Amino acid sequence: MKNQPANPFAINVFDVSHRIGEERVVSLHETLTSHWGEGVASVPEGAVVSVEVRLDGLHDGILVAADISATATGECVRCLEPLSIPVQVDFQELFAYSPTEELEFSVHDNYVDCEPLVRDAVVLALPFQPLCDEDCLGLDPETGEKLAEPRDHNSSSIDPRWAALEALASTSDTSAAKPATKKRT
Ligand SMILES: [Zn+2]
Repeated sequence: MKNQPANPFAINVFDVSHRIGEERVVSLHETLTSHWGEGVASVPEGAVVSVEVRLDGLHDGILVAADISATATGECVRCLEPLSIPVQVDFQELFAYSPTEELEFSVHDNYVDCEPLVRDAVVLALPFQPLCDEDCLGLDPETGEKLAEPRDHNSSSIDPRWAALEALASTSDTSAAKPATKKRT
């Protein structure tokens, strides 16, 4: 097909273009050729991103509504357990028939390029601090094993350095009160 962009997220809109009220649904299942996301969680190369796109022909452009699903991978920031993170996100954007000041996106050669929108939506939905569980207790600093229950905080096991810190804390409390007393005299 002439003019077909190599980008798999570019959709031919010829059949809804300039046809007010015309609708079409397109399903895309694309394998990524590079990973998406630079954080702890990302969608890896080779993962499939599925997008259900609804195209609506409007007076001044084509309304593109997309539901995206993908699976990101990463590791729990507390216990480092490998994670598989489902990502469900959507967007809606109007692609103008001719480029305008107000609209960022426009139709080119009967195609709408959804790639930057799909990618941005997915990347923004990735968690910055993925957890295997909200209550994950992380690793035991002594054994390196994942903690199954909170560490025992009874006073006999308190590190002597904590006692020193506590003493410091109480000293700074009293010193903070001193200048106030001075001002009054
Ligand atoms: Zn964890």
